[in-house]
Amino acid sequence: MYEPPFTRDRDANERLAARECDACGWVSFPEHREICKRCGSVGEWTDTELEERGTVQSYVVQQRLPDEFETPLPLAIMDVPQTSGGDPARVYGLFTETDPEHIDIGMEAEADFRRIFDVDGLPIHSFKFKRPRGDRL
Ligand SMILES: [Zn+2]
Repeated sequence: MYEPPFTRDRDANERLAARECDACGWVSFPEHREICKRCGSVGEWTDTELEERGTVQSYVVQQRLPDEFETPLPLAIMDVPQTSGGDPARVYGLFTETDPEHIDIGMEAEADFRRIFDVDGLPIHSFKFKRPRGDRL
């Protein structure tokens, strides 16, 4: 049965559920792959879960986007640790409730599950990142 990607990946997006390559330890998130991006091995994965906080490795601030998105919108590449240890997942994260001037490489950010946009009137939920509470400027 056909399922749109946002439905198929819903579980991963809601729980920060990821999969770790048994051969090399690379973590796939949020998409579930058959072939490991790092080592090319096929099919051997272990379910894992990510911490709710990661560290900003790099970021851009998007200024021009379709009307349904607020701008400026920071988009960061985050390293998010697994709850069980091992390699962190490299995650693309949209930011929310965070002034773009207050984002820095090396800062911690926490995942926040929320409505991202609507498709045909149905809300699509996924995660965004924001400065942890108590760490706001
Ligand atoms: Zn691998």
